[in-house]
Amino acid sequence: MSCKEIEVYLSGYLDRELTQQEAQRVELHLETCSVCPQLLKELATAREATRKIEFRQPGKQEWKNMENTILENISRGFGWLILVVWSITTVGYAFFQYAMMPSEPLFQKILVFGIFLGIALLFFSVLCQRIRESRTDRYKGVQQ
Ligand SMILES: [Zn+2]
Repeated sequence: MSCKEIEVYLSGYLDRELTQQEAQRVELHLETCSVCPQLLKELATAREATRKIEFRQPGKQEWKNMENTILENISRGFGWLILVVWSITTVGYAFFQYAMMPSEPLFQKILVFGIFLGIALLFFSVLCQRIRESRTDRYKGVQQ
């Protein structure tokens, strides 16, 4: 089996949805291939991050009821961290897949890379602003 064929099965392999025969074929390929195990790892990381975000999304009422602000801040910080890791992994994986396509012209790849870089920088600046704002809020809270 080629890498392209294995890619289709990797998601099912993670979810243990494959038949025993299919899983064996995937495992056999993973042992001999240097690219696909890395791909599987990235896929598993992204999966795990998505699951954690879903798990850490309590309802609005739950947030209101939460009196322990320290715990809330830690959760939020952790949520941001997961979101950032998840975004980087997903976008990085998507771009890596795209960059590996031999059919796409180089110029187009550079163009797409520029757009990705722009979005990443925008995201980063918004993130920095949010962190600064949350610090200011805390300072205001201390003064009042
Ligand atoms: Zn492979």
